Amino acid sequence: MSHAHELYPMLSVEEALERVLSMVHPLDSERTPILETLGRVLAEDVFAQDNIPPHANTAMDGYAVVAANTAGATPASPKELRVIENLAAGYVAQEQVTPGTAIRIMTGAPLPEGADAVIPFEETAQAGARVQLFAAVPMGANVRLAGEDVRAGARVLSAGARLRPQEIGMLAALGRSEVRVIRRPRVAILATGDELVDIEAPLTPGKIHNSNGYSNAAQVLSAGGVPLMLGIARDSVDDLTAKIREGLAQGADMLLTSGGVSVGDFDVVKQVLATEGEMTFWRVRMKPGKPLAFGRITTETDGVRRTVPVLGTPGNPVSTMVSFELFVRPALMKMLGHGDARQATLDAILDDPIPSKDDRRHYVRVWIEERDGVYHARLTGDQGSGRLSSMVSADGLAIIPEEWANAPVGARVKVMVFG
Ligand code: AMP
Ligand code: MG
Repeated sequence: MSHAHELYPMLSVEEALERVLSMVHPLDSERTPILETLGRVLAEDVFAQDNIPPHANTAMDGYAVVAANTAGATPASPKELRVIENLAAGYVAQEQVTPGTAIRIMTGAPLPEGADAVIPFEETAQAGARVQLFAAVPMGANVRLAGEDVRAGARVLSAGARLRPQEIGMLAALGRSEVRVIRRPRVAILATGDELVDIEAPLTPGKIHNSNGYSNAAQVLSAGGVPLMLGIARDSVDDLTAKIREGLAQGADMLLTSGGVSVGDFDVVKQVLATEGEMTFWRVRMKPGKPLAFGRITTETDGVRRTVPVLGTPGNPVSTMVSFELFVRPALMKMLGHGDARQATLDAILDDPIPSKDDRRHYVRVWIEERDGVYHARLTGDQGSGRLSSMVSADGLAIIPEEWANAPVGARVKVMVFG
């Protein structure tokens, strides 16, 4: 095997991300039941057909009255009214409120005709059909007006909005059971390596379980995508080629591989990707996860030509996960229609030193603790990129800039927190 990798461009994380993002685009939209839209991006403007609330109603349990009729009422000289009806939420009053009368009314019930205010139970005492009022209320007191929440005809939600529980509640309030959102990207996930066996298979000498396929799939799910599990490809050109074609035939919007992109003797992923599509291989100035393959494969299913982006991540369990966080998650965010693909970070004080490092940007696994209103970050032990347990105990990745030769205790760092 040659060492042609020396010729591969060395990119900063930002340069690599920019190139990845420039090759992916928001997907088309689909009408979707509202409970399946959580976290997704709205692809239509949503207008209100009707007022919310549809009718004026009471905000309190109490008595619907004519406000002018309560003037001067105090505990010492209460006003007295005749109670002519008892109205629960969900029903319309039969009677009309007049100056001498009141309707007993429960929160949410439509304001009866004639009434213009509600006096809460707390300011009253009822005996039989008579109620005493101990306070005056102004016109409109404790009344919710028709359309005060949402006016009929108003644009309530705009295309591009990310749907949270409150937007989903609003859609229901508007009487919408379905709405148009950007569809979820289907990501074909392929683990590569002769040493890999699937979860249930016994571990014979030399073999390990395929964990990357599952951590990658879970990352795809957590980003809002749909994983297509292609399983394991052997380190052979034929098997890899077959598995890649299978993923594309299943309608994948992206192909994500792990392993086989470094400089080992059996790293055939690079070779196969280069044959099947237009690929570039990068060295990214980061640790873990230096090698990264990126490109696209053009494929034809039922006469329709599609170009599918491909990301080849390194095989070490931490490297593939970190590469996903830095490049795949933002790409999926863009495909899902999210405007800002950058990840949130928090500021923390490093409580463990990093005595020396190379000139790459290091992503170190840390756990976070808040003390006196300040976040502190501690390393989760050995930072070997094969140690998945160091991810299990981590809350996030502290970013140690490429310019730093070391990081002393007390250094301020940014931490990408796991979702
Ligand atoms: P590679 O990038 O193919 O050279 O693999 C680097 C290291 O990651 C090797 O120790 C592999 O055994 C390990 N590895 C590769 N793929 C997986 C996987 N799917 N699950 C767990 N470990 C893996
Ligand atoms: Mg391998």
